[in-house]
This record gives sequence, structure tokens and C-alpha cells, in this order.
Amino acid sequence: MESEVKIGLECHAQLLTRSKLFCPCSTDYHNAEPNTHVCAVCLGLPGALPTVNEQAIRYGIKVALALGCEVQPEIIFYRKNYYYPDLPRGFQITQYDFPIAFNGLVRIESDGEEREIRIRRVHIEEDPGRLVYKGTIDTAKYALVDYNRSGIPLVEIVTEPDLRSPKEARIFLNKLRSILEYLGVFNGDLEGAMRVDANISVAGGERAEVKNISSYKGVERALSFEITRQKNLLRRGLKVKQETRHYDEVRGITISMRTKEFEEDYRYFPEPDLVPIRIAESVLDLKAEIPELPDEKRKRFITQYSITPEHATALTSDKHVADFYEAVASRIDPKLSATWIADVLKGELNYRSITMREAIKRLSPDDFVAILRYLKQGIITERGATVLIREMLDRGGKPDEIIKRKKLATISPTEIDVAIDAVIKANKNAVADYLAGKNEALNFLVGQVMKYTRGRAEPKEVRIKLVDKIQAYDLRSDAQ
Ligand code: ZN
Ligand code: MN
Repeated sequence: MESEVKIGLECHAQLLTRSKLFCPCSTDYHNAEPNTHVCAVCLGLPGALPTVNEQAIRYGIKVALALGCEVQPEIIFYRKNYYYPDLPRGFQITQYDFPIAFNGLVRIESDGEEREIRIRRVHIEEDPGRLVYKGTIDTAKYALVDYNRSGIPLVEIVTEPDLRSPKEARIFLNKLRSILEYLGVFNGDLEGAMRVDANISVAGGERAEVKNISSYKGVERALSFEITRQKNLLRRGLKVKQETRHYDEVRGITISMRTKEFEEDYRYFPEPDLVPIRIAESVLDLKAEIPELPDEKRKRFITQYSITPEHATALTSDKHVADFYEAVASRIDPKLSATWIADVLKGELNYRSITMREAIKRLSPDDFVAILRYLKQGIITERGATVLIREMLDRGGKPDEIIKRKKLATISPTEIDVAIDAVIKANKNAVADYLAGKNEALNFLVGQVMKYTRGRAEPKEVRIKLVDKIQAYDLRSDAQ
């Protein structure tokens, strides 16, 4: 069956080289004053000649191999001609007929179904400068341009129109991000490190291209907006024009920029200042450098640690989470570790919008092993362990010290007895209700004991003890 919505993505990811693609300028623009990492080449001054950064090509080949692409024996750089203030040369140096690679595949899981997303091509190109609009693109009186970004190497990954929904597009991007991070060639935490252009059409209309989507969440939002816009046009009997639209991140809408240009408008031709690059021999060496990727790691986790496929997916989607898990699971019960990292820790990270890379500064694998060991030994309850994790993520500290300071240690059996006796005495009606067969009265009583002990008792244990005590009470009152 033909899908009603078709989405293809052009994903641009900044490669983590130290210098730019065609000049020795630093790529670190995130921490630099605007227009300080620039030279004649990346400013496009007349007569400046580009030289290729070998590392960028190697990274590009690694990406292509990791995506299962056919790496080409020869790559040739082309000029893509268009004028825009962020492109001082008046053309972008990119690849066209002879890119690094063709025909790859990425597997994603969408609604429990495995889907194969075909990769059309992978190529390397230079990033344009960064334009900053005061306000929004259609109302700004001026734009600021920072050429620090001009010439940063990008790997562009183009998919076939195999994605069927905005949600699938998001899942695909997360998977791609994960693969690139596993390869060590990309850092998705950096602002604007991944930028996406999306081609999208609904049945019965032309396709529109949405440019400038620069966040993972933005992709889903921009595409959902665009589907609604196109469907509304078709419903009213109007046409969806083939055009290029700009995504306005602030307002969450797309705006028409220009009717779609065609390939020939760019007047692609081979870059005369760069020679073709033959890459056949180095390809074999690079294959050995491809690390274990998310899909393989997931399979290994399931067999090696006997954890569920769901946990394995959650633990391998981010390389830093996977490394954290292995550091913990090698020292303490792997299944318990999987539950506490995939279900609890990841939830706490999401809630705080922090990455594992950041979290590890406050909560080390050593600390996590200590927390799980205390839990296993019954020194803290599950609730206590959760409080401990939260406290460490928010304020740091050491598990021992926090257990003492926040009085998280599980209370002794005698203390539990005292609490239960007090609760029974203070809630005679609930006790009578329970004895009369009302089970919800027992839940209430357990809750009261938990409150009394400030959560330091295990609810399961409290429940068993409560039932015993109430029955003992009952026998005694019968005897009287
Ligand atoms: Zn430069
Ligand atoms: Mn591009």
C-alpha cells in the first residue's frame, strides 16, 4: 500500500574535525566571538585557494561505511552556485555526481515494527556562515552574519522518501545521531550541529522542501505543521505548489521563501581548484576502525546480560548510556542495573533535559554501583534509591553522605513494629473495615505506615506485617 505521506530528509551533520574543510581555521565557533576564526579561504576572498582536510574525508567514509553504503572509488568536489550573504564566495563547495557513497540503509523501530530507511547518498560539503535574524526571517530589519561557521565540514546524508510520518522522521534522526556519535565524528549536544532539510508531500500534491530545521524536536513539529497545511489546501480544492519553505523555529510554522529552484539553477560544475580524490585503498583500513554500532550492541546486550529487548534498546540508543551501563553491569547484577538505568535514571535525565554526558560528572558508575549495592542489601528502599539519584543529579555529593543527611536508611524491624502499632491504634475504623472484608482499607493503612516512617520501610514488608498484626489484634479482642 502506498503511504499517504512521504518524507525524505537531507541531514547535515557537523564533523568533529579540529580545523575547517578547506582552510586551517578552528572549527570551534560555539565558544568564540563572531568572525574571529576566519581567513581568506573561508571568507571567500578573491584568489584564495582551498586545500582539502583529509580527516574530514576519512570521517565521511566512516559514516558511509557505518550506514552500509557503497563507498565510491573517486570523489570530486563541485561548485554549487547561488548567492546568499552567508556564502561569501557565491558558491558552495560540495559534491554532486561523484559523492563519497551511494545506497545505504538504516533500520528503525516504529510502533513495534522494524522499518528500513534507504540512504540515497552521502557526501561532504562546507557549512555556510551563520545568519542571525533580529526577530523572525520575514520581519527582521537586518540579519547578522558570523563566518566562524563558514567552511566547517558537514557530512550530508540523504534518504529516499521512505519515512511515513513526522514521528518516524524523529526516530530516524535520533538513530542517525546515535550512529554518528558512536563513530566519534559528531557531537549532537552542540547547538546547530545537525540541520535538516525535509522534502514532504501528501497524496495528490506536489512536494515542498522545508529548510532550516535545526533541532530534533523541530523536525517533528515542522513536518506536522506542513502536513496540516498541505492537507488543508487539497481539501479546499487548491494545489500544493512545489516550493521551498523556511521553518520558523520560534513560531513553529513554515513560510514560503521561493518557488522551488531546479537542479540546473545551481549550475553545478567541477571545482577547478581541487583535484579528484581516489579513496580505494584507505577504505579497507577504515573498516577496522568502525566500532560496535547501536544495533550490534543491542544484540550483544540481550545475550550477554540476559536483559529484555526493550531495555537493550533504551540502553544502546545513546553511546554514553551504553558505556555507563556496561561499567555498572560488570560489577553488579546486570538485570537490576538495566532496570535502574533504563527505567529510572533515563527518566530522571529526560525530566531534567540533561544528557548522560553531563550527568556523569555528578553521578559516576562507581556511585551508581554503590546505590544498587545498598538497595540489594536492604540498607535503602527503592524509594530511597530514587531520592538518592535525584539528589546526586541536582546537587551532587556522595551516596553515604546523602543517606545520612537525608535519613534514607531503611528503618529496623522494631521501628516498623512501633509504626504499625501506632497506626493501628489511631485508625480503629479502618482496621474494622478491613476485618469486615474491605481490602482498600488495608491500602490506606499501608499508606499511613509509609507516611509515619517517611518512606523508609518497604511497602511489601509493611503490608505483610500489618495483616499479621491486625489478625493478632482481632484474636485478642475476641478473647476478651
Ligand atoms: Zn579559514
Ligand atoms: Mn547540502
